Amino acid sequence: MKYIDQVDIKGKRVFIRVDFNVPMDDYGNITDDTRIRAHLPTINYALDEKAKVIVASHMGRPKGKKVDKLSLKPVARRLSRLLNKDVVFVEDCIGNDVEKAIGAMKEGDVVLLENLRFYPGEEKNDFQFAQELARFVDVYIDDAFAVAHRKAASNTAITEIVKVCAAGFLMRNEMEYFDKAMGNPIRPLVAIIGGAKVSDKIGVLEKLVEKVDKLIVGGGMAFTFLRALGYEVGNSLCEENMLELAQKIMNKAKERNVKFYLPVDCVIAEKAEANAEAKICTIQEIPGGWMGLDIGPATTSLFAEALQNAKTIIWNGPMGMFELDPFSRGTFAMVTFVANAHALTIVGGGDTDVAVHRAGMSYKITYISTGGGAFLELLEGKKLPAIEALEKCGGN
Ligand code: AMP
Repeated sequence: MKYIDQVDIKGKRVFIRVDFNVPMDDYGNITDDTRIRAHLPTINYALDEKAKVIVASHMGRPKGKKVDKLSLKPVARRLSRLLNKDVVFVEDCIGNDVEKAIGAMKEGDVVLLENLRFYPGEEKNDFQFAQELARFVDVYIDDAFAVAHRKAASNTAITEIVKVCAAGFLMRNEMEYFDKAMGNPIRPLVAIIGGAKVSDKIGVLEKLVEKVDKLIVGGGMAFTFLRALGYEVGNSLCEENMLELAQKIMNKAKERNVKFYLPVDCVIAEKAEANAEAKICTIQEIPGGWMGLDIGPATTSLFAEALQNAKTIIWNGPMGMFELDPFSRGTFAMVTFVANAHALTIVGGGDTDVAVHRAGMSYKITYISTGGGAFLELLEGKKLPAIEALEKCGGN
């Protein structure tokens, strides 16, 4: 696979697929522009190379129809400010208006196209739609790691049409840091897995147990493991149909000499509510009708110790229902331990990055992935379709 700095883009019409799927409030204001900023190195590089830069993204799930609330227009304004230059917004992503806008471009100009998902062809990886997208394009650059696990016209079919294809710098960072953690890690390699369900991450756990030196399991999913060990877990999240698989993973850890850490105490409540009465109890003492919603202080110390000598740490999934204050301590304590570890630290997938940002510790983490599902699929050892498409691209 080639990267943007390995192909000639000087003066060319360069189509950059990004992920500008930013959160917005009801008035159309962007509430967090992290995803836009993540692509600036790629866009700025293309501008420095005097390319004609055509930027395309999806936003939300309009299901193949035009939905005004999911327009990328507010993103064009923000991108213009961040780049400190004009960004021409086209209210379509294919057709005459796009042709006109690209026709008028000079070297170093930027055009942002409207939401790719306003057309059903995008998510269907439709070849004809991809042909429309590729009509005025010399070079295709994929920088949208967060959607690389889903085939779409703008990340798969398009690579069969445009002759020169490459990945952007965000994509490169994502792949390189992932490889540093999981490909050839400096050991001990410790994985922390949390979040709601075992069933969502069974593939990840199976893969990790083959690779890591220590596996720390917290969050709701820990209760399925504890139940498999014979503990009563009250009303805690527990997937009865996963007990066997959970046991299998623990057996595999034992066979491979992987240290497997589970909570020894937890914060419990009768209801998962912010004003619920919360107590701390050991895993052996969860009363019927109560549920474990966070790891307890003894577990926090245990997990901190497990991280002590780690040289590489990979983390996905919160330690508890951290969105609610009484059940957030465990997750925030883990953020602090990971942030202060003398290790390469990689955080990714779902809510974990939210916890790190909320704790104000993102600057102390080596790399925070922009991918949720894509990051988890990499952890499962899967090849991402968009990456495969770039590797196969005819021009390379
Ligand atoms: P995931 O997307 O699988 O990483 O799950 C993240 C979600 O898991 C968050 O919204 C948390 O609130 C939830 N979660 C974590 N721990 C627990 C728990 N002990 N009980 C219920 N939900 C939890």
